Amino acid sequence: HSKEQGRNTICFFSPEQHQAALSRYRLAGYLQQALERNEFHMVYQPQIDVHDQRLIGVEALLRWEHPELGVVSPGTFIPVAEDAGLIDAIGQWGLERSVRDAVDWRDQGVSLKLAVNVSAREFQRGDVAERVQAVLSREGLSPESFVVELTETCFMQSADTTEQALVKLRRQGVRIAIDDFGTGFSSLSYIRNMSLDILKIDRSFITGVDSSGTGGQLVRAIVDMSHAMQLEVVAEGVETTDDLMALQRLGCDQAQGYHVARPMPADELLQWAAAYAAGKKAISPL
Ligand code: C2E
Ligand code: MG
Ligand code: MG
Ligand code: MG
Repeated sequence: HSKEQGRNTICFFSPEQHQAALSRYRLAGYLQQALERNEFHMVYQPQIDVHDQRLIGVEALLRWEHPELGVVSPGTFIPVAEDAGLIDAIGQWGLERSVRDAVDWRDQGVSLKLAVNVSAREFQRGDVAERVQAVLSREGLSPESFVVELTETCFMQSADTTEQALVKLRRQGVRIAIDDFGTGFSSLSYIRNMSLDILKIDRSFITGVDSSGTGGQLVRAIVDMSHAMQLEVVAEGVETTDDLMALQRLGCDQAQGYHVARPMPADELLQWAAAYAAGKKAISPL
């Protein structure tokens, strides 16, 4: 009987699922050591004003390079880190690293708004606001130049705890961005009820957006709705001049995407910013 049960248990997993579970398990093991082995680094993607194209800020994005696996994308390892209980430590590392980088840039004459992604699991702990405040005050970065990005998963998994943290963060002067807008559920109710300042339209709505087609009308509706709620609108995944021109016509406030720049290491940012400001970067005039 137990043999049969054993066989049945194994049959719950297809070979693909078995492989996926195994590699998640393996990844979790590697992730345990990644911090102490210094395998993480941050990259930064510029965000510009859609209308005058000035550089406004950067979004900090985590990168993991394992000696054997190579670069593992955050889309793959962050869920594993969350399940393995490692996201708090990794998130804390990323927060400290990126705040220090922003302070360095500022001290070299370039003040940028810094946006950091915080995952749903981190919000569940209930001390996000305190952690952010501690790092900002220790490193000496003004809360006014700091943005927390979160996804609606945070509201679905722990609405009250998340909202309490957002209220505290905003009282400090930190601004809140809802990320990947349009990809999940219950969008309208949470943007009405939660403490938000910025709405980031998901890349899937932006890539190839054309203001004359339905894609453009959808983006315009999101922009108008956001503005009616006093939210600033950032477009993600702007890949072409046409995307950027459409977004300008649609009234979008800010943009980021490969058309402006790919995420880059901290030590390349100032040089990029200088070249960009000098008009050396080949962004077509609108
Ligand atoms: P996100 O916060 O929505 O970040 C935007 C993602 O879109 C980034 O992917 C960025 O590299 C990519 N991207 C930017 N412009 C373009 C474009 O023009 N075209 C295309 N195709 N992609 C573009 P990345 O770096 O792989 O990050 C994926 C997700 O992982 C992020 O989505 C965020 O949810 C999460 N993540 C990244 N870093 C962190 C972190 O430090 N902490 C947490 N909790 N999550 C993070
Ligand atoms: Mg983000
Ligand atoms: Mg996003
Ligand atoms: Mg995303």
